[in-house]
Amino acid sequence: MELSALGTDVERVIVTEQELQTKIKELAARIDSDYAGRDLLLVGVLKGAIMAMADLSRALQRHVDMDWMAVSSYGSGTKSSGVVRILKDLDRDITGREVLIVEDIVDSGLTLSWLKANLESRGAKSVEILSILRKPAAAKVEVDVKYVGFEIPSDFVVGYGLDFDEKYRNLPFVGVLAKHMYS
Ligand code: IMP
Ligand code: MG
Repeated sequence: MELSALGTDVERVIVTEQELQTKIKELAARIDSDYAGRDLLLVGVLKGAIMAMADLSRALQRHVDMDWMAVSSYGSGTKSSGVVRILKDLDRDITGREVLIVEDIVDSGLTLSWLKANLESRGAKSVEILSILRKPAAAKVEVDVKYVGFEIPSDFVVGYGLDFDEKYRNLPFVGVLAKHMYS
């Protein structure tokens, strides 16, 4: 869905489709080199990481396995609570695997630090994180994100997988949701 079809829902675009696609190729090249000769299992976090997974996996010049988890921070609205529960677990055992978690955004970092610890506790050989977006201002928890696409301000954003009330995931860009949509 293009900006022109959105009316006034999105206040401004902060990462364009072109910028996203260029960055994904750059990250894929780094991953190809970092993981050369190694195993690689991409774990996408549903549903926000769908676009990142689709684009990143196709930009990699190597075989990868893909698996998915769905987790939920309790509560709804525009703030994360830090209490995480698994809605859908991995299909396979990850003992000894080299795991790269693919995420849409790190806000407080609570979800990702929980997820990284969870996957490490299952005996993965390595667990690294890629996140398309990071909101540095909001970092309550130190979480080491190895591959970051874009540092963005703390505004609530939608698009490229990110939703508000399940909408806007299908925007090919990232934009700030207009305040009148949620206040
Ligand atoms: P965290 O635990 O605060 O890092 O945030 C975890 C989750 O909250 C992310 O994976 C997103 O699903 C959601 N989230 C955080 N910020 C935004 C945003 O600006 N727009 C949409 N979803 C967000
Ligand atoms: Mg998410």
